[in-house]
Amino acid sequence: MRIGVIAIQGNVEEHVNAISRALKQSNLEAEVIKIKHSGLVPVCDAIILPGGESTTLGRLMEREGIADEIKKVAIAGVPVMGTCAGLVLLAKYGDMQVERTKQPLLRLMDIHVNRNAFGRQRESYECQVDFKGLGLPFNAVFIRAPAITGCGKNVEILSKCNGLIVAAREKNMLALAFHPELTDDMRIHHYFLKMVG
Ligand code: GLN
Repeated sequence: MRIGVIAIQGNVEEHVNAISRALKQSNLEAEVIKIKHSGLVPVCDAIILPGGESTTLGRLMEREGIADEIKKVAIAGVPVMGTCAGLVLLAKYGDMQVERTKQPLLRLMDIHVNRNAFGRQRESYECQVDFKGLGLPFNAVFIRAPAITGCGKNVEILSKCNGLIVAAREKNMLALAFHPELTDDMRIHHYFLKMVG
């Protein structure tokens, strides 16, 4: 098995470390690779889209040809997990600012996103959230986080914080407004690994 972390910008190392830790805990053999150029997405069994700055990430992924590759494999059923800016990129519909600035999105999940739902000035924020299927609440770390403001009928809402949707799944795609790679609790990574199978 091979898991690819898009490594163009943002918190890449944290994701590489977190997924490697989760694999070890599950006794799963897998190679975790950092993806900076085209040609690697198609040989991965799962893709992780880290947080960062979604405009920069989107533009660079398009320029490198990675965006088209992700669209292709995601439509073919390869599991994709997007956190924070990664969630923004997965969305089919952006807020007014996202659409007005023609920010490039992958437009894969039937969700509407508000890119700075928690307020621009609010750098970071922690909240205990219930997450469907996890049992005990998860300590979610939000950093200039987006939220999902609406979703289609095939999207399963997994978690809310202060009434805002902060985690959702549509088939093989998992979108999180917060950063599970920044905490020691690996339950969401294990949830994603189950999607990988
Ligand atoms: N709100 C930021 C953006 O859309 C994402 C912040 C993050 O990934 N930590 O670019």
